[in-house]
Amino acid sequence: MKAAILENQGVMTYKEVPTPTPAPGNVRLQVQSVSICGSDIKRYVSGHRMYPIVLGHECAGIIDSVGEGVSEDLIGKHASVIPVVPCFDCEQCERGLYSACHSYSFIGSRQAGGFSDYLELHESNVLIVPDELPFEHVALIEPSTVARHMLALGDFKAGETAVVLGAGSIGLMIVQWLRILGAKLIICTDISDENLATARKLGAHVTLNPLKDDIVAKVRELTGDGVDISLEAAGVPQTLETTVPITRPRGKIICGGNQPLDKSLPMSLIENMMRRELSIIGCFMSYSAPFPGHEWTETVAALLDGGLDMDTMISHRYSLSEAPEVFAKIGDHSLNHRKIMMQPEGASS
Ligand SMILES: [Zn+2]
Ligand SMILES: [Zn+2]
Repeated sequence: MKAAILENQGVMTYKEVPTPTPAPGNVRLQVQSVSICGSDIKRYVSGHRMYPIVLGHECAGIIDSVGEGVSEDLIGKHASVIPVVPCFDCEQCERGLYSACHSYSFIGSRQAGGFSDYLELHESNVLIVPDELPFEHVALIEPSTVARHMLALGDFKAGETAVVLGAGSIGLMIVQWLRILGAKLIICTDISDENLATARKLGAHVTLNPLKDDIVAKVRELTGDGVDISLEAAGVPQTLETTVPITRPRGKIICGGNQPLDKSLPMSLIENMMRRELSIIGCFMSYSAPFPGHEWTETVAALLDGGLDMDTMISHRYSLSEAPEVFAKIGDHSLNHRKIMMQPEGASS
């Protein structure tokens, strides 16, 4: 089979590798659609923990063979990849906190991912979905679950107000979930007017560009003392700092964007957080008990009833064979993109 392989920092090849045969307990997915996550881009640009590695965890396919002990009834089923591989045995797994597992693996970063013709994975890492869902939508289930998880961590309720900071893939998914869950006011911020236009199309009531708008003044003007919940999906220190004055007292701030580790913020952030009695909540992945969690089943339901608009999330489509060139273009910022979908040559649709 063919696979796109990250050989080293900034070096990707597309080449022939052995086709996996599923081990006991595993299944093999014939990949039909896979999308590029911001974390794949980060691993390409900034380097990864191990090489060579096949990246790609936002992935859909058809189960085409199964290992010993797995029901043959699964063959032919359509599935989405559930990328975290928890041990299901440690203290955190027992509490249902799978992303805090002491010894987890992750498909597409710690073990081979979906930028390939076939992907071997454990039976518990496939989410079987109805055949009627397009594979591209099925591939985008995972980023939707991250957005849904952020709102679950913030205990978001219908009728509340929200600011989404960052209108990248996760931010746009959050906007959609706020719409689906009945937010009274959805404000979205981003430095790209194009991204903000997409956010409006997906449900944002108000969009603000920090390059032109005074975010704090505008949010206060619209909400009085601030919104009920702020969701940081940009991964920018100044953006995180902005969340404090725009969130109402006793409100919640959910951190979902990966921040640059070499930057810092003034401690006045904590002082202001204390005065407003804010909760600042971290989000890592998208899992809850029972595995993989309600985030996943709710996403499938929202795809089936049309609540989630995945087509608007997609900006580019390529053959998987073009992955090295596509990553090079993303790496040097010559490709303005939302979700980029790739399809292996053998995919049936
Ligand atoms: Zn991802
Ligand atoms: Zn564990």
